[in-house]
Amino acid sequence: MALKIGLTGGIGSGKTTAAKVFSTLGIPVFDADSAARDVMNENETLRKNIIAAFGEESYTNNILNRKYIAGIVFNDPGKLEQLNAMVHPATIAMADEWFAKQTGAYVIKEAALMFESGAAAGLDYIIGVTAPQHIRIQRVMHRDKITRDEVLARMDKQLDESMKMKLCDFVLINDEQELLIPQVVALHEKLLTLKKPA
Ligand code: ATP
Repeated sequence: MALKIGLTGGIGSGKTTAAKVFSTLGIPVFDADSAARDVMNENETLRKNIIAAFGEESYTNNILNRKYIAGIVFNDPGKLEQLNAMVHPATIAMADEWFAKQTGAYVIKEAALMFESGAAAGLDYIIGVTAPQHIRIQRVMHRDKITRDEVLARMDKQLDESMKMKLCDFVLINDEQELLIPQVVALHEKLLTLKKPA
């Protein structure tokens, strides 16, 4: 059974960028954030529960009305928690199904909310990707064409990054001073030698 490795970090830290390097090295990568988006459209029970909680407008022709839901949950932490409590277990179940099909030395699950969602519990090791906050803000403003305040509002929903890194087994520094690719290659070599933790 392949080792299950988590890959996490705050918004704009470079998780997807690091994941692409692992993928280039032949490692299968599961993207939990896009799986969470898919599961909300594809899982019928989840769809019914979301409609029951947030109303009929949550879906248009069985497709999640993301703008409507975002308008509700990003203004109400209790509602966000309620949505996450429905979506995270379904996403974790999807990841487990995917893990079961994979072979090879290890596989990666990329998720922004690794600790917040409970996903960390089922994984053997966790990699954190970190970058200074001012760089993360600039990257996300540029990538998503949003304002600084909008980035800060998203960051607010996440666990503090330095706290997150303390919970990780390995840390990749993506501060545009240290090169990322050689760090990923070195970590890859190390991961190939690891066994499941006792
Ligand atoms: P999110 O949680 O928002 O999905 P993420 O952690 O997956 O973010 P990425 O999407 O990998 O972060 O990176 C954010 C942006 O910064 C992207 O546009 C990416 O191309 C850019 N970026 C990441 N790392 C670097 C780097 N070392 N040098 C230059 N640009 C970078």
